[in-house]
Amino acid sequence: MGDWFQTIVDTEVSPGEAQGLAANMLDWLIADGFVSAERTDCVLGADAGHAPGTRYAEAVEDPDPELVNVWSNGLHVSVGRTVFDAGQGEPSAVTCPHCATELPLVDECWTLIDERWDRFRAAVGSWADGDDEPVACASCGRTAPVHTWIWADDHFAFGHLGFTFWNWPTLRAEFVADLSRRLGGHRTVLLEGKL
Ligand SMILES: [Zn+2]
Repeated sequence: MGDWFQTIVDTEVSPGEAQGLAANMLDWLIADGFVSAERTDCVLGADAGHAPGTRYAEAVEDPDPELVNVWSNGLHVSVGRTVFDAGQGEPSAVTCPHCATELPLVDECWTLIDERWDRFRAAVGSWADGDDEPVACASCGRTAPVHTWIWADDHFAFGHLGFTFWNWPTLRAEFVADLSRRLGGHRTVLLEGKL
């Protein structure tokens, strides 16, 4: 059994604004009872997070009464330049921001097509370190910075602020929309994955 997560990534916040915005958002999430104020050991991949609050059920479609008994049930807020990814599985396809051609990255057995993925591998890997390498499109030949490509199933998202909910049931669309609005209307990506 794996742990499943949903991450809402703000893809537009600037590095300088991310910390302050994260604090404001946490204030709201705590004040409205979606998460508890206390920081505890309840998330994966980080020291501490915020466990579900008294009104957490209003953020999800189908509240699970057992969530309180799951150890990894918290919210972790990531601040800093990060390539968020869906964990298990391969990126299935990517779409060129210029010509809108969707380029499959896996074959019919869901194995990565190395010659395709190799165009992206280094660029995806180095984005968090401050690079934003251009990648050439196999269809139209034009190049675009790696963060502007559109990933199937939102396999990757590039940004400086992310909200990861561990093992929560599917987040309600209204909750995601409200959270996005409070991020100042920045473009967000909802990424789902498993570890
Ligand atoms: Zn293209």
